Amino acid sequence: MSKRQEQYDVIIIGAGFTGVTAARELSHKGFRTLILEARDRLGGRTWHDRRLGIDLEMGGTWVHWFQPYVWAEIGRYGLDVVPSPVPNTLYWIADGKRHEGKPDEFFLKIDGPNQRLLEPARRCFPLPYIPLSSEEIHDIDQSTLKEKLAELQLSDEEHDMMDSMWSLNFNSPLDEAGFSQALHWAALSDYNWKLMMDICSSYKLTKGTKTLIECIFNDAKTDILFSSPVKRVNKIDSGYKAITYAGDEYTAKAVINTLPVNILNSITFSPPLSAEKTMACTEKQSSKGVKFWAKIKGVTEPFA
Ligand SMILES: Cc1cc2nc3c(=O)[nH]c(=O)nc-3n(C[C@H](O)[C@H](O)[C@H](O)COP(=O)(O)OP(=O)(O)OC[C@H]3O[C@@H](n4cnc5c(N)ncnc54)[C@H](O)[C@@H]3O)c2cc1C
Repeated sequence: MSKRQEQYDVIIIGAGFTGVTAARELSHKGFRTLILEARDRLGGRTWHDRRLGIDLEMGGTWVHWFQPYVWAEIGRYGLDVVPSPVPNTLYWIADGKRHEGKPDEFFLKIDGPNQRLLEPARRCFPLPYIPLSSEEIHDIDQSTLKEKLAELQLSDEEHDMMDSMWSLNFNSPLDEAGFSQALHWAALSDYNWKLMMDICSSYKLTKGTKTLIECIFNDAKTDILFSSPVKRVNKIDSGYKAITYAGDEYTAKAVINTLPVNILNSITFSPPLSAEKTMACTEKQSSKGVKFWAKIKGVTEPFA
């Protein structure tokens, strides 16, 4: 019987970490699942590949025990992590000049500015795991990080260093970065911006993120179809129908859509998404980073 004639309980769109984990949880509860994935591989934005003669992380890389769900998965499958190389030297451009120094010198210079910037984090996010638990968030929710940095009246050097650190974190220019998100990020890191930086870039999976997604996938009793981008999702009497660009149709009682906000509206939904979701897809999320790897002759010391 071809996949399209089988009856599934749930169709999951996307085989990134979210989709594969959803399939595992549902299949363990006895539901029949089908994953429809646009690409020819697992992992979505977190993937591992062999390039330049070595195994490289091409997207999401770093993990930390302050990411409780990811950390639980690493423990569940008995995987190991290794510390990332710590840069000996940092180079930065500030106030129109090239600077270099030890990481501690850089962090000391931006400690005061970050303390002042993130001071509202406790008030706005008293319960970091319930992001909308405080009314205070309404006062700052429309502000960008660029506006808030301007209010701090930093020196030109401090401003450029802060811009560099936060643009890297957001993967975007700061006029597209939400101040509330910066505060929430700090709140999730025990209101400590240095811990936040450690969480972002200190530990990675010894044998790559691929090992983790393969463990989760192998643990899921699910059907999967690669190279099957979904074009439309329609509500029907018995549940939902997912239609791919190739014209194949699959039905199930429910659909889980794991597409990122920035491309959520690349699928046509009938009935359509709510006005709020449509607006978020149109405005898009700030993060636009891609990873770039290069082999550089003569460089032996880790730097940033
Ligand atoms: C450069 C970069 C670095 C990052 N670094 C880190 C890090 O160090 N640590 C960390 O924790 N996080 C990091 N992240 C974030 C992390 O990668 C993401 O949070 C995570 O991978 C999201 O997983 P997901 O399954 O929710 O979404 P995705 O991985 O985006 O999965 C969505 C899936 O849907 C598929 N898809 C898209 N359209 C369709 C369609 N029409 N039909 C069917 N399938 C479709 C996609 O191919 C994809 O496989 C980084 C992200 C990037 C881009």
